[in-house]
Amino acid sequence: MLRFASLGSGSKGNATLVESGKTRVLIDCGFTLSEVEKRLWRLSCNPEDLSAIVVTHEHGDHANGVGRLSRRFRIPVYSSVGTFNSIRDNDFARFQPINIHQAFTIQDLEFTPFPVPHDAREPCQLVISDGQWRLGLLTDTGTLTPCIKEHLYEVDALLLECNYDARLLETGPYHYQLKQRVASSFGHLANGQATQFLQQINTTKLQHIIGMHLSEQNNLPDYAKAALAEGLNCEAHEVDLACQAKGFDWRVLE
Ligand SMILES: [Zn+2]
Ligand SMILES: [Zn+2]
Repeated sequence: MLRFASLGSGSKGNATLVESGKTRVLIDCGFTLSEVEKRLWRLSCNPEDLSAIVVTHEHGDHANGVGRLSRRFRIPVYSSVGTFNSIRDNDFARFQPINIHQAFTIQDLEFTPFPVPHDAREPCQLVISDGQWRLGLLTDTGTLTPCIKEHLYEVDALLLECNYDARLLETGPYHYQLKQRVASSFGHLANGQATQFLQQINTTKLQHIIGMHLSEQNNLPDYAKAALAEGLNCEAHEVDLACQAKGFDWRVLE
């Protein structure tokens, strides 16, 4: 059995929990220590029970809380060397460098990282497996590369970025440079790109699809849901979204 949940998703902080057996890994931590403790308790988890933290890239919404959490509970941190070197507070209890082109295991879980085009030093996203089920995580990518499609081609569950609606971004409050950054090929994934992606991969095994990393300024939950539903040719109420305040509750693959 593979379980996963989100502590929160969006530009104010991200953290995703994945669990199999006694192995419980947090992917990213963009929350303060007290905030992450509160959010873990909400999912009936103790921070002491975390086996490791895997960090996808150094941006604050993914990495700001990693150092303190690691030191406080002596949790090892896994990331690329580029990510490690770019995290402001990287004084971790223990650091395990990873090659983002090569799978690695943490106890009962296998992680297959893959590179993504994003404006960070050495960013990756992940497929996580317990040997039977595969969960794909894809946020913080500006473009959909063949490599990304290959890795997420036939996953059982997918956490997919729906960052912005192109028209809302264009007419929204961001200043010109920030708009350019978000929409660039090293920025974030638009709703329309999420739709395209779902149409280009094999979704026959997909049991869970959750829209992630929604922009609070440049997107609307209904738009993101419609984009995912269009990609899967299903109804909007059949897809789900992770929110900034609560993420989403445990989901199970079994
Ligand atoms: Zn982010
Ligand atoms: Zn980022």
